Amino acid sequence: MRLRNKPWAKDRIAENPQYVVANPESHKGNWSKVFGNDNPIHIEVGTGKGQFLVGMAKQNPNVNYIGIELFESIIVVALDRLIEEKLPNLKLLNVDAATLNDIFGKNDVERVYLNFSDPWPKNRHAKRRLTYKTFLKRYEDLLVDGGEIHFKTDNQGLFEYSLTSFSEYGLLLKYVSLDLHKSDFEGNVMTEYEEKFSNAGQRIYRCEVKYLN
Ligand code: SAM
Repeated sequence: MRLRNKPWAKDRIAENPQYVVANPESHKGNWSKVFGNDNPIHIEVGTGKGQFLVGMAKQNPNVNYIGIELFESIIVVALDRLIEEKLPNLKLLNVDAATLNDIFGKNDVERVYLNFSDPWPKNRHAKRRLTYKTFLKRYEDLLVDGGEIHFKTDNQGLFEYSLTSFSEYGLLLKYVSLDLHKSDFEGNVMTEYEEKFSNAGQRIYRCEVKYLN
């Protein structure tokens, strides 16, 4: 994701706490109050400019979505989309995924989406991959029992690494597609990266995995 310096982004985020939740730690264990209903909560880690979650929130009004994005200059684009669409079932958090367990308690979340996560191809950076075992533990500690991770990427190396990481962690591989756009999967909502890579002729890998607890 190309980072542009946007000095105004911080203010814009602070002015819209109804969309980019301020002090998210204060809602740990209580996220249904933020949405005003008991619908299930699905989060996307590394949400980027928000195309996927805006599409999902429109497609599934009975699911609450939360997008997690580290960079102000990127999340502000998702915020502008949200201001335009005014979706009641989508919130954004401008935080590092490493802090997820300060924000969500066990059973707060029903599903984690990881879309086109940074591949960190060098072995010495493996710990930064969002499918590394420490992240799988973080997700386990905020998901309901039997919660799921849904993962898409164009990167074959990251996909193979992640399938091994999921399997070694003891997750059940429920669904694996080696070419999502030629599969019979219905209701796919494209992310920005997915659109870019598939337009360039690259295949998209997808899997669904489930915690067995
Ligand atoms: N999911 C989007 C898509 O498919 O179009 C964006 C993909 S982009 C390659 C990865 C995004 O994850 C970037 O916006 C990056 O800033 C974000 N990201 C990476 N590591 C993160 C972390 N530790 N916490 C929160 N966001 C992170």
